[in-house]
Amino acid sequence: MLFAAPKIPRVAAARVERALIELDRAVGQSKLVLDETARRVYAEDDSQSEACMPDVVVVAESKDDVAAVLRIAEAHEVPVTPRAGGSGRTGGAVPVAGGIVLATHALNQVVEIDRENLTAVVQPGVVLGTFHSLVEGENLFYAPDPNSAELCMIGGNVAENAGGPRAFKYGSTRDHVLGLEAVFMGGRTMRVGKRTVKGVTGYDVTALLVGSEGTLGVFTEITLRLFPKPSQVATLLALYTDVRAAGASVSRLIAAGLVPRCIEMMDAATLGAVRAAGNAIDERAGAMLLIEVDGEDAEAQLERLGNALGDAQGTLDLVVAQDSAQRARLWAARKSLSYATRKMATHKIAEDVVVPRSRIGALLEKTEAIGAREKVRHLTYGHAGDGNLHVNFLWDTPDEEPRVARAVESLMRETVALGGTLSGEHGVGLAKAPYLEFEQSADLIALQKDVKRVFDPKGLLNPGKIFPTGHKGC
Ligand SMILES: Cc1cc2nc3c(=O)[nH]c(=O)nc-3n(C[C@H](O)[C@H](O)[C@H](O)COP(=O)(O)OP(=O)(O)OC[C@H]3O[C@@H](n4cnc5c(N)ncnc54)[C@H](O)[C@@H]3O)c2cc1C
Repeated sequence: MLFAAPKIPRVAAARVERALIELDRAVGQSKLVLDETARRVYAEDDSQSEACMPDVVVVAESKDDVAAVLRIAEAHEVPVTPRAGGSGRTGGAVPVAGGIVLATHALNQVVEIDRENLTAVVQPGVVLGTFHSLVEGENLFYAPDPNSAELCMIGGNVAENAGGPRAFKYGSTRDHVLGLEAVFMGGRTMRVGKRTVKGVTGYDVTALLVGSEGTLGVFTEITLRLFPKPSQVATLLALYTDVRAAGASVSRLIAAGLVPRCIEMMDAATLGAVRAAGNAIDERAGAMLLIEVDGEDAEAQLERLGNALGDAQGTLDLVVAQDSAQRARLWAARKSLSYATRKMATHKIAEDVVVPRSRIGALLEKTEAIGAREKVRHLTYGHAGDGNLHVNFLWDTPDEEPRVARAVESLMRETVALGGTLSGEHGVGLAKAPYLEFEQSADLIALQKDVKRVFDPKGLLNPGKIFPTGHKGC
């Protein structure tokens, strides 16, 4: 395991025992998961973080269940880790101190879709892909689209402020959350935010809770902003000799004033994995951009794209998807990248660093140098329009792990040195907590810890996340 759990003591068994008696009374036996095999599923997420067993999993079916868990946990000082789909990439849902995992997947109702005001109210366990299909069936559109849409849930997206390819035009999850109902430690339930698109009353507590990684409160209802479904969508594939030429094209089309909804980039090693997965891609190509535009003028935008990208140096081919089936095939290849590239080695870690777009080329050069120095295989793909790249390191055997850990640390340092940030969408969780101080001052970290204490004075809600606490590299 690349990231050992932080050295946080597990909660004492006697406290758990006392909490269990009350939980049994408050939520009922049927919602408690105690069986060891069943609990094991909740010990890890989709990161390279060490698994940690919870003492009990509570499958909440109502906000009263959530409130009861947080009341009992506070009274008996038992840690609680909220969980949605478990697809997180930074160990956010891993219960490092044991205690209770508060599973929210059964809170899965779409409470309301308000066509007139273009809003929706959902519970946190709604699977994102299901929600996309539902609103699109009504000719509406919910923009955030992490590539894990069939696995992740909206509560997890809100907690991580998830992004995805369409964030380039539409922003990340935070830009689409109008308000929340949240339960805090002790069981206090509150509504924050608004139902209107505009509103500036008081501090923006909604914005603070979005991206709080399950450390401040547990969401039980989320009010989202919708858009009318774009009438046209068009997709263009651009093939390049190498990533530098592809990166230069990204800058060129943005400078031309074009705002595609997605600009996704894949490097040569990634294209190798895409080909190995059965997709025929010109063998000369050493990089690819997948660009998508939407709106009534999608055709006109495509033409402008073609003119902007045109015959620039290193361009091999520009191919427009002819129909929705071809579009779907292109996106299926993009969305399966994570799993396709996983086949290239026994282990893989996907970082999600962001640099100013103008520094993408520099980041790729630094990554090359890090890979060569540490002798670690790597590949890069991601949301190039945002400067948000998934640098993946690959390895097979445990003896390689110290080199991979050094490569990750170097990547974090180089990203910050280039004016970037450690995470564009996966959050800090366990995996990036040791590097937080590379980017943020001691004062800023202390301020955030003060905020955490206001919400959770005993430090029981999702301990060990975001802030460096007794972390140990592998
Ligand atoms: C194949 C693959 C592709 C991915 N692609 C993307 C991508 O394109 N963009 C992107 O942003 N991410 C991506 N991810 C990462 C991941 O899917 C997102 O971080 C997602 O938002 C996590 O949602 P989840 O429901 O799985 O949450 P979980 O992993 O269950 O939890 C994530 C965090 O949310 C907290 N949490 C869960 N529910 C609640 C709640 N009700 N209240 C408060 N806190 C809560 C947890 O404590 C944890 O800290 C990808 C992951 C995979 C496996």
